[in-house]
Amino acid sequence: MDNSDFFSPVKIIAKKRDGHELTSQEIRWFIEGFTKGPISSAQMGAFLMAIYLKKLTESEKVALTDAMLYSGTILEFSDPSIIDKHSTGGVGDKATFLLAPIAHACGIKIPMVAGRGLGHTGGTVDKIEAIENFQTKLSLEEFSTSLKKYGMVLMGQTEDIAPADKKIYALRDVTATVESIELITASIMSKKLAEGAAGYVFDVKTGQGAFMPTLESSRALALSLCETAKRFSRKAAYVISDMNSPLGHAIGHSLELMEIFEALKGKGPKDLEDLSLTLAAKMIVLGQKATNEAMALEMAKEALYSGKALQSFRELLERQGANSSIIDFPEKLPIAPIKTLFHAPKDGYVSFIDTKALGLFLVDLGGGRKTPQDTIDFGVGLRFFPKIGSKISKDDCVLEVYSRKGQEHLLQYLEKNLWSNFLLLSSSPTKSNPLIWESL
Ligand code: URA
Repeated sequence: MDNSDFFSPVKIIAKKRDGHELTSQEIRWFIEGFTKGPISSAQMGAFLMAIYLKKLTESEKVALTDAMLYSGTILEFSDPSIIDKHSTGGVGDKATFLLAPIAHACGIKIPMVAGRGLGHTGGTVDKIEAIENFQTKLSLEEFSTSLKKYGMVLMGQTEDIAPADKKIYALRDVTATVESIELITASIMSKKLAEGAAGYVFDVKTGQGAFMPTLESSRALALSLCETAKRFSRKAAYVISDMNSPLGHAIGHSLELMEIFEALKGKGPKDLEDLSLTLAAKMIVLGQKATNEAMALEMAKEALYSGKALQSFRELLERQGANSSIIDFPEKLPIAPIKTLFHAPKDGYVSFIDTKALGLFLVDLGGGRKTPQDTIDFGVGLRFFPKIGSKISKDDCVLEVYSRKGQEHLLQYLEKNLWSNFLLLSSSPTKSNPLIWESL
């Protein structure tokens, strides 16, 4: 029976505030009332804070995800080989561009509805847009036709996918309710489920440069995402990967693409390659192209080292309007003209990297947004070479910065703070971190 005639926003907010479980009808009614009216932003703000403080039960979380998902268009393919991956965001995290072509070359279809940069972390859509003419604005119709025909497509968020999330996220940002596992899960899953994939691999970052700084909170988010995917009859797997050091060396749009081109030729940094192969292998198993991860990993390596993944990536670029010769002539990517090198003043072992500050430094250079209206400078960036545990010798080059005229004050700031804030050295050996802390 539909009781919605008796619902009121105030009663629902109070019910959650007092720690009671809401019904799925109440949640759906509230989300619809906010997305289409008449529920106000003030009421939604209070509702979000009540959820933040009192949390959601498993059923409430599923109902919230469902309500947000059904606020927009949902694609359905019924194809078990359509698998996507979601990363919770990190510094220098460009793995999508490596793992997607690898998995594609192994028979997986990949529907990438990707995001833009958020805070200190970069976004997949922004990065690929550094390639001239690459089209990320597709209609859902074009997206779905391309996925069925070619098996790999990349586009930015559209208004059609989970519009409730867009409105709610904007409010979370200004009501101190972003950091809630339940709200993050519903936000991510409402958008992901709309893509119509049969399964998802989640790369949950952990550590200083991640949104989830501790292993416990990263695990809680990973389990929450997987459980929610399963409640919607999707397959799911996760990896918790380290973000105490940036992934690879390049941070910044053109520089990251250059690193990807090298990685697709089998010459990428080891951490980027290992993580991408692991995530691709999980996608290959979920998509039923291999019966176990060891076999899938061999398939993924073969796809990478034989050049098949590189070919997949070339074809993606051409299909979406870009000229794939950029892979062979990466110097044609926009790059800032002033290159400054920073060298180690003494020998030592890296004990701490302020990965988040490196991401924020890129934003200061113009390689990220401080307000949603900001345009991104694709050409600025950093190449940061050390990892936690690295041995450094005096005069080693640890950092390259690509900047523009007028940014001398930023370089001076780095000069002054690099060895006291961004990068700490110890005189005795330090332990490196595992690249993958845990996986399932
Ligand atoms: N990414 C999302 O899409 N939503 C969140 O809430 C956090 C990260």
